Amino acid sequence: MSLAEELYKEVILDHYENPRNFGELDPCEIHEEGVNPLCGDELEIFINMDGDKVKEVRFKGKGCSISQASTSMMTEAIEGKSREEILDIVNRFKSMITEDHQPDFEDDLEDLNALYGVKKFPVRVKCAVLSWNTLEKALQ
Ligand code: ZN
Repeated sequence: MSLAEELYKEVILDHYENPRNFGELDPCEIHEEGVNPLCGDELEIFINMDGDKVKEVRFKGKGCSISQASTSMMTEAIEGKSREEILDIVNRFKSMITEDHQPDFEDDLEDLNALYGVKKFPVRVKCAVLSWNTLEKALQ
């Protein structure tokens, strides 16, 4: 395993063991659920908006480390961002793990690069995109 892969693995494990924004919001403006039956991943996303921006976001879920880490990373990535910014991140993320798009997230989005390696495991791609598809549905 290369050094980059080793570091990416650590980032994923850290999000899995210490999920960011875990919990729920009550009251909650936007609530959406996602399921990946192939792996048994389940998650719920709770979002409150402030105008066009995400004011706060929480999630609950269970499943494999990839699905849970991906959701944790996603909640960190979208906090404070507008719908337009978020949909751009969603598109970049999906093309990173389904197409030939190199990982190029920077600053507060850097952790997302850790999921780049998932593209080598087609079965796991569904685990990684579950939260992002659920988020897209939630914001529509
Ligand atoms: Zn999974």
